[in-house]
Amino acid sequence: MLVDLHMHTEYSMDAQSPQTPLAKARAACARGLGIIAITDHLDFYHRHGPAENRDIEGCVQAVRAAKEAFAGRLELLAGIELGQVHADPAADAFLRTHAFDLVIGSLHVMPNDLDIYFHDFASLDCDAFLREYFAQVLAMERHGGFDVLAHLDYPLRVMRREGYTPSFDQYMDRISDVLRECVSRGYALELNAAGLDGWQKKVGPPDCVLYEYRRLGGRRISIGSDSHKLSNVGRGVEECAALAKRFGFDSVTVFRGRRPEQVPL
Ligand SMILES: [Zn+2]
Ligand SMILES: [Zn+2]
Repeated sequence: MLVDLHMHTEYSMDAQSPQTPLAKARAACARGLGIIAITDHLDFYHRHGPAENRDIEGCVQAVRAAKEAFAGRLELLAGIELGQVHADPAADAFLRTHAFDLVIGSLHVMPNDLDIYFHDFASLDCDAFLREYFAQVLAMERHGGFDVLAHLDYPLRVMRREGYTPSFDQYMDRISDVLRECVSRGYALELNAAGLDGWQKKVGPPDCVLYEYRRLGGRRISIGSDSHKLSNVGRGVEECAALAKRFGFDSVTVFRGRRPEQVPL
């Protein structure tokens, strides 16, 4: 079964517009996907209110409407990608008042509220930065409230600069802590295809992460294109499935009404 459990529509600030949930579902059908989740952004911050969604209430309604409209043709899961659920109690309040099929937990910004992408790595201590990154992911996991741990390799995609190629190899102690928490709390570890656009030109996370996750008893994985435009719905999901199978995962975890079910790959 081809699934794409992470994608954005026009409601996400950084996504193509116009691009409605209905149009996204039509594109997914044309692409031959069996299950999709629409997971627009809502990011929480340490010092200011939530952002990154153009109209969160409109978004929630439009995704639910698309789910109903496609019932019987395409399984569309109503999701959301929450950034930094640990940064602001407003994230917990939001989750108490909105029902989703699945909630993706992401770490986009550091404690200074700046997206990892926008840091000036030429003038930063990249080693200290990555150690702090893993500490933040762990804090987010311990806070909880989500189902899928998204794109753990996000810094690898964006930290590259002249003379420096980021690698996770020397952080396996930190990564083990993050993955142990992932297993014990039942989060699905996401395989994300956005790396196809980056310098690595491949889906993530890197092999060392998947190997360690499996070794620690991790059995739940998720797969997502992280598509931000209509033209790349489902892109890379076959590569993600192939990567998962290479590490012994033969099913993907699909959350329906926040309850996990295994679906064969
Ligand atoms: Zn993200
Ligand atoms: Zn995303």
